[in-house]
Amino acid sequence: MANNALPTRRARSAAELADRSLDALLVSHLPNIRYLTGFTGSNGLLVLGADGRSVLFTDPRYQVQAHEESGMPDCHVRVEKGALLPAAARALRRLAKHRAGFEAARIGYQVYAQLAERLDGCPELVPTEGFVERQRMVKSPEEIASIRASARLNSAALERSLRSVRVGRTTENELAAEIEYQMRRLGAEGPAFETIVAAGPRAALPHARPTSAKISPGALLLIDMGASLGGYASDMTRVLAVGSPRRRHALLYRAVAEAQQEAVAAVRPGVQAGAVDRTARRALARRQLDHLFTHSTGHGLGLEIHENPRVGRKDPTPLAEGMTITVEPGVYLPGDCGIRVEDTVAVTASGCEVLTPTTKELRAL
Ligand code: ZN
Ligand code: ZN
Repeated sequence: MANNALPTRRARSAAELADRSLDALLVSHLPNIRYLTGFTGSNGLLVLGADGRSVLFTDPRYQVQAHEESGMPDCHVRVEKGALLPAAARALRRLAKHRAGFEAARIGYQVYAQLAERLDGCPELVPTEGFVERQRMVKSPEEIASIRASARLNSAALERSLRSVRVGRTTENELAAEIEYQMRRLGAEGPAFETIVAAGPRAALPHARPTSAKISPGALLLIDMGASLGGYASDMTRVLAVGSPRRRHALLYRAVAEAQQEAVAAVRPGVQAGAVDRTARRALARRQLDHLFTHSTGHGLGLEIHENPRVGRKDPTPLAEGMTITVEPGVYLPGDCGIRVEDTVAVTASGCEVLTPTTKELRAL
């Protein structure tokens, strides 16, 4: 990560705090802490002041790592032997005279209650919603490069893994394990989410878990996979025919792939995220398949696999250059098959760049 990105991000958040008459913000969501400080540990709290100064609290396991990743003149690292919350509460008191924000959707009840008791109204605790997440929605060119690299690695892992499949012998579980192994071999930290490998009727469950079922001829095989590389997620779904595809399956596949293509073509700055979803739905409706499309068309992704915008029917968020989203319409026929085609795309100045290089032709295994 470009080191100067972190102070810039903190300065932007600090300016927004000042705009909202908040003196400080307690950041408890780890991906938000990572975004603002570079800290990748699993235990941390960040107090960000409206004056731009911030303090990152963590425990002794991360003594060296936290200083290396996050220590900067405007970001102090404090290693606490005990609980982080009392120390963070003291920092909030010091940095905030009147009003301190906290991440309402990211804090547990007990932590909130302890915090409220320690501060006792001074400063006043103000709930905020999506404060850092909104800033994270638009990625820098460096972040997009990370997601592009993650998407390429993900596609390479698929190609390597498919070579290992022996039709009639390999199980869903074995292929899922091979995919995650290849991701790591190629340099990923690991999968960004649990890999889905679902053959035949099991693919009709949009979030199927791989089982010990064998990948057998005559079925469609759905693979939904994403790598985490340098902290950034990618996400792709492809469907393959096992043996030569039945005509009906090939027609359904083409309908979904075309709906996906139309939705991708609708992605550009200024268009509502919801309009991308409606484009995919309209395309499926022309073939009377829209009632089989049971989830939203996509989601933002970055440091987390699911971020804003939500790319659902009613999402009014206007797309902007630098946003990264997935486009993944699907149709699900219980007892028969599930078909979904998913790419990771980045919104550009004039349209979008598809970051997923894998072909969308219906391939046979
Ligand atoms: Zn996916
Ligand atoms: Zn997805």
